[in-house]
Amino acid sequence: MKNLLEEAERCLQCKNPKCRKFCPIDTAIPEAIALYKEGKIMEAGEMLFENNPLTAVCAIVCPHEDQCKGNCIKGIKGEPVSFCDIEAEVSRYYLENVRFKPAKKREESVAIIGAGPAGITLAFVLAKEGYDITIFDAHEKLGGILRYGIPEYRLPNELIDLYKDRLRELGVKFRPNTLIGPVITLDRMLEDGYKAIFIGTGVWNPKPLNIKGETLGNVHYAIDYLKAPQAYDNLGDRVVIIGAGNVAMDASRTAKRNGAKEVFVMYRKGFENMTCTKAELEEAKEDGVKFELFKAPLELTKTGVKYIETKNETDENGKVYTKTLEGTEGFFECDTTIIAVSQNPRNNIVSTTTGLDTNKWGLLVTDEVGNTTKKGVFASGDVVTGAKTVVQAAAHAKVVAQEIMKYIEENK
Ligand SMILES: Cc1cc2nc3c(=O)[nH]c(=O)nc-3n(C[C@H](O)[C@H](O)[C@H](O)COP(=O)(O)OP(=O)(O)OC[C@H]3O[C@@H](n4cnc5c(N)ncnc54)[C@H](O)[C@@H]3O)c2cc1C
Repeated sequence: MKNLLEEAERCLQCKNPKCRKFCPIDTAIPEAIALYKEGKIMEAGEMLFENNPLTAVCAIVCPHEDQCKGNCIKGIKGEPVSFCDIEAEVSRYYLENVRFKPAKKREESVAIIGAGPAGITLAFVLAKEGYDITIFDAHEKLGGILRYGIPEYRLPNELIDLYKDRLRELGVKFRPNTLIGPVITLDRMLEDGYKAIFIGTGVWNPKPLNIKGETLGNVHYAIDYLKAPQAYDNLGDRVVIIGAGNVAMDASRTAKRNGAKEVFVMYRKGFENMTCTKAELEEAKEDGVKFELFKAPLELTKTGVKYIETKNETDENGKVYTKTLEGTEGFFECDTTIIAVSQNPRNNIVSTTTGLDTNKWGLLVTDEVGNTTKKGVFASGDVVTGAKTVVQAAAHAKVVAQEIMKYIEENK
C-alpha cells in the first residue's frame, strides 16, 4: 500500500503538466495534488467532481498507463506519480461525505435513457442546473457497465450506490426495469412534455464470431456472462475465453474466481496485438489465466474448440497482418467457451422511432455536440462511438449537457 502523502510530495507540479494533457477529461491533476498535500480533501474532491462526476470511478478503471500515469515526467527515469491512487481516496471521501441540495428549480424536464457513465454524468450536470430529470434504465440498478459489466473485484458496487444517493439529493427521478422502445417510445415522451431526450444506451449486443456452435449450451457471450456470473454455476473445470480485450480479461478472471480450475484465453494474434491494457493482462496472468495465442477458432463444439493456427506477417508496405496456416487445424478441449469479441448496440429505440439515423454498425449518428438526426433528441457514449472507455463517455456527456441546455433555452 502506497503512502499517498509521500506520493503527492513526489509530484513536480509541472507548469505544463503532461498528465493533465493526456487526461481525456482534462483533470487538474497538479492542483488536486496541491490541495491534497494541504489536507484540503473536500476541496480537492469538489474540484475533481465538478470537472468529472465519475472521478471516483475513473480513478479505478481508467487506462492510466496511456493517460496520466503513462505521461508523468517522473516516469521517464523512474516511477511515475500514481495520481489515480490519490484521486481514488479523495473522490471516494468526497462522494461519501458531500450532501447536495436541490438547485433552484426550472420548469423544463429532460429524459435520460441509460444510467451508465454517459447518463449519470449528464444527470449531474443538468440536475445541478435545476432541470427536472428522469433517468430510465432497462436494468434494476444504476451504473450500466459499471455495475453489470466490470466485475465487483475491480469496481465495488457500493461505490456505484453512492451515485444514486447523490442524484436523489438533487431531485433526480429513476425509473428502473424500464426498457425504452417497445412500450414507452420517444414520441410518447415528447408528448408528455420532455423538452429534450438523451440516449446513452451503450452497446449491449455481443458481436458473434459467426462460426458453427455459437448456440450450444456450453457457449456464452462475455457481455451476458459478466452481468451475473453467479448464474453460470456449471462452467466445468476448463474454460476458454475467445478474445483479447478488457472484456476478455474480465471474463477470464471472473471465471477463475468462480470455480473454473483452468482458464485459457484463445487469441488469433500475439500478446503485443492484444487490445486490453497491459495492467489487465498482467493481472490476468497473476490470477493464473493461461494463453493460447495464434489460434483462430473454426467451430465451437460440446467438448471444445476446433481451431487453426495463425501467424503474423508483414506486407510490402510494412503493414502487419495475420494469416491462417493451412494444415494446422487442431482441437482444444474445454467444458465451456465464452466469446468476448466486442459489442454492438441494440435497436429497441431506433426500431420504434422515426428520423433517428444510425450508421452501418447500428450506432447513432450525431454531430460533434450530440445532436441526433431527430430534433430534441441527443446521444453520446458507447451508443455513438462504439465500445470505448468510461472517461470518454463522461467527457463527451459534459459537452452534450451544454448543448441540451442551449437547445432548451432556444426552444422555450
Ligand atoms: C466488461 C467490460 C469491462 C470494461 N472495463 C472498462 C474499464 O476498465 N475502464 C474503462 O474505462 N472502460 C471499461 N469498459 C467500457 C466502459 O464501461 C464503457 O465505455 C462505458 O460504460 C460506456 O458508458 P455508456 O453510458 O455509454 O453505456 P453503458 O455503461 O453501457 O450504459 C448504458 C445503459 O443503458 C441501458 N439501456 C440500454 N438500452 C436501453 C433502453 N432501450 N431503455 C432503457 N435503458 C437502456 C443499459 O441497461 C445500461 O444501463 C468496459 C466495458 C465492458 C463491457
